[in-house]
Amino acid sequence: MENRMAEPDGQPLKLQVANARPQDGGRGIARLPQASLDELGLHEGDIIEIVGKRHTAAVAVGPYEEDQGLSLIRLDGLQRVNAGASSGDHVEVRRAEIRPATRVVVAPAQKNVRLQGSGEALRRTFFRRPLIAGDVIATATQRSGGPDPRLPPQLRSYLDLPAYGLQEIRLSVVATQPRGIVYVAEGTEIELRPLYEEPRDGHRADVTYDDIGGLGDTVDQIREMVELPLRHPELFQRLGIDPPKGVLLHGPPGTGKTRLARAVANETEARFFHIAGPEIMGSRYGESEQRLREVFQEAAQNAPAIIFIDEIDSIAPKREQVTGEVERRIVAQLLTLMDGLEPRQNVVVIGATNRRDAIDEALRRPGRFDREIIIGVPDQPGRREILGIHTRGMPLAPDVDLDAIARTTYGFVGADLGALAREAAMDAVRRILPAVNLREGIPAEVLEGLSVGRDDFLSAMKR
Ligand code: ADP
Repeated sequence: MENRMAEPDGQPLKLQVANARPQDGGRGIARLPQASLDELGLHEGDIIEIVGKRHTAAVAVGPYEEDQGLSLIRLDGLQRVNAGASSGDHVEVRRAEIRPATRVVVAPAQKNVRLQGSGEALRRTFFRRPLIAGDVIATATQRSGGPDPRLPPQLRSYLDLPAYGLQEIRLSVVATQPRGIVYVAEGTEIELRPLYEEPRDGHRADVTYDDIGGLGDTVDQIREMVELPLRHPELFQRLGIDPPKGVLLHGPPGTGKTRLARAVANETEARFFHIAGPEIMGSRYGESEQRLREVFQEAAQNAPAIIFIDEIDSIAPKREQVTGEVERRIVAQLLTLMDGLEPRQNVVVIGATNRRDAIDEALRRPGRFDREIIIGVPDQPGRREILGIHTRGMPLAPDVDLDAIARTTYGFVGADLGALAREAAMDAVRRILPAVNLREGIPAEVLEGLSVGRDDFLSAMKR
């Protein structure tokens, strides 16, 4: 794992970022051209430093077959966020100086997780993982299908480590000793902070494009409509066209609209403002409009920003259909705010709805929500992809056949498949319940011996 020779740093290479395939994700592997490895004097398995707006470390591996000869570096979603680079950006890559960590402090990078127990289990999960303070890392150690069989054998064992708990969780690396790029070694002490901590520089990695399945080129569409104007407003200025202000995501509940909007925000480092349609309908006179104005103002002050309005049909129904004075005023306010958004303010509004036809037409005019993306119910390959995402980091028994589950879950949307995976995991937990004292929580060490099997999925299906 350690780099063979601590050669004096040569010139860093510049490579263009592209997305990794899902099987590679989660373990900090980066794929780069053979010529670049040679130039940096690296072998597969050596550690590189990747520098975008921030920097991160990765295990260097040779390119995918189809990338031969291209100056690409393939990174997964967490690596992109950690490096502060999107696909298409250029990053600098150099050989890393890496030392074993004596101590690593981690905290949950997601709000719904509480860390407890000793750091022992985490040390096993992250064994030999290169990291740097500020990184967000995931406990997933294997993707469905296992590690890419073409990887060198020493890396396959690196990828095949015990899972932590029953579902993937994301952790922030708060601090390391020594500082700089380190790896988790036998003697590394891992200190757990129990609760979520807002990352210091505001970058969040709770969701990336890797966490959305079955949407095919929808992700590319939304990148073009939202990411491009937010990150490269100058492009639009130079071409003399107005960037889109509003994008409507249209599709049934639970298909990933919110998750997609959040992922765009994280991957473009835009601030994310969430407005829940039904919730904003305040009761007191003028309250809802006031709230809308505040959100738009705060977004403009914190640009680049995305304002996400969930169930937009509930706050902006067709005016002729509503009797309520309140709705009429809110629609009018929203129209005014959209019209008042200047392209240079770098704010994009994403509205989500299941009932496109129930929305006030005035909102769909040019300069308002004039782009639309349809998010459908996933097909079988889509369901398979989503199941892969929700079972990441889950210790699956060998009898679990995700393809078979994808075949038998016709009509399930992402939220259903997520719930199915969670239920199956709960089922596995229930089996060990008699052996644990719940008041003390279930230590990760106990969960380590656990696996989720085919029967757990079957009984979850019945619920
Ligand atoms: P929507 O906004 O369309 O109602 P959400 O984005 O809120 O749906 O999805 C709810 C949850 O369902 C997500 O947090 C995620 O766990 C799961 N989910 C939904 N769609 C997908 C998807 N396409 N890929 C992966 N998970 C999904």
